[in-house]
Amino acid sequence: MDAVCKAGCGIGEELFLGLRIDVDTLTGARRGVPRLLAVLKNYGIRASIFFSVGPDNMGRHLWRLMRPGFLKKMLRTNAASLYGWDILLRGTAWPGPNIGERTSSIIQAAAEDGHEIGLHAWDHHGWQARLDRMDAKTIDSHIRRGFDFLTRILGTPPVCSAAPAWKINDAALLCKTAFPFQYNSDCRGTRVFYPVVAGNPLSQPQIPATLPTYDEVIGKPGVNHGNYNAFILSRLVPGKLNVLTIHAEAEGMSLRPLFEDFIRMARSRGVVLGPLGQILKDSGSIPPGVVTAGKIEGREGWAAVGE
Ligand SMILES: [Zn+2]
Repeated sequence: MDAVCKAGCGIGEELFLGLRIDVDTLTGARRGVPRLLAVLKNYGIRASIFFSVGPDNMGRHLWRLMRPGFLKKMLRTNAASLYGWDILLRGTAWPGPNIGERTSSIIQAAAEDGHEIGLHAWDHHGWQARLDRMDAKTIDSHIRRGFDFLTRILGTPPVCSAAPAWKINDAALLCKTAFPFQYNSDCRGTRVFYPVVAGNPLSQPQIPATLPTYDEVIGKPGVNHGNYNAFILSRLVPGKLNVLTIHAEAEGMSLRPLFEDFIRMARSRGVVLGPLGQILKDSGSIPPGVVTAGKIEGREGWAAVGE
C-alpha cells in the first residue's frame, strides 16, 4: 500500500477512486444527502462532501441559462425528472432560503459518519454567475461566510473546498490560502499539483476531478442510462488520479439506484472508493501546475482546467 501513489505518479496499480459529493441546493442537502449517507454507510465507504450553505438561488441559475444549447441539455438529461421542479424554480421569484441553517443536523450527521467535510459555496449561483467580476474582497467574503458557518456548526473548520461549477481564478486561489484548507478541488484535470499564481506555487494543492459528471455525458453518442456506470468505470486509470463527482441532487435522489449499482460494479472490479484527502496522504512529492479557463464537453461556459 505504501508503494501506491494515487496522485498520478504512476506508481502502483491499485484502482483508487476519490469520491466527491457536491451539494448545490436545499433540496439536495435535505433529501439527497441523508440517502447518500445511508448508501455509503451500508457499503462502508467514506467520501468528501462539499456543502453549499448560504442562499439557494440555483433555480435562478438554471433558468438564466435557458439558451438553445442549454434547453437541449435540459431535454437530453430530462432535467425536470433529474432534479425536480422545486430545484428548478428555487430562488426564481423570491429570495432563496438559507441552506445551511435548515440542514445543520444533516451536515453534522455527515461529519459524524466520518466523511470529509468541505466548503462548496456560500451562494453557488452568485459565485458561478459573477466570479469573473468579483474583486478579492467579495471573493473573500463568499468563502468566509461559508467557512465560518461550517466551522460554527461542526465545531471544527472544514478541511477542504471545491469551487462551484469548477469556476476558479487566480484571485480566488489566492484568497483560499488564508483559510486552513488542506487541499482544494477547484478544477478538472489529471493529476494533483500546487497551482502557480504570479510565478509562485501556492501552499494548498489542487485535487482535480478527472471524470465527467452524469449530466455532462448522458445522452451523448454511445452513453445512456444503461451503460453510464460501465462508461465511467472504463475511464479509470490504474496508478493514476481518479476522482468522480456526484451530486446530492442527482445521485442522491433520482439516480440513487444507478449510483448503488455503480458501487457494486466498482467493488466487483476491485476499485476502492474513498475521500480525496486519502489521495493526498498517499501522494509523494507534488509538482507545480497551472489553472486555466478551459472548456469541458457537455458543460456551459468555461471551467477551470489544471495542467
Ligand atoms: Zn455545485
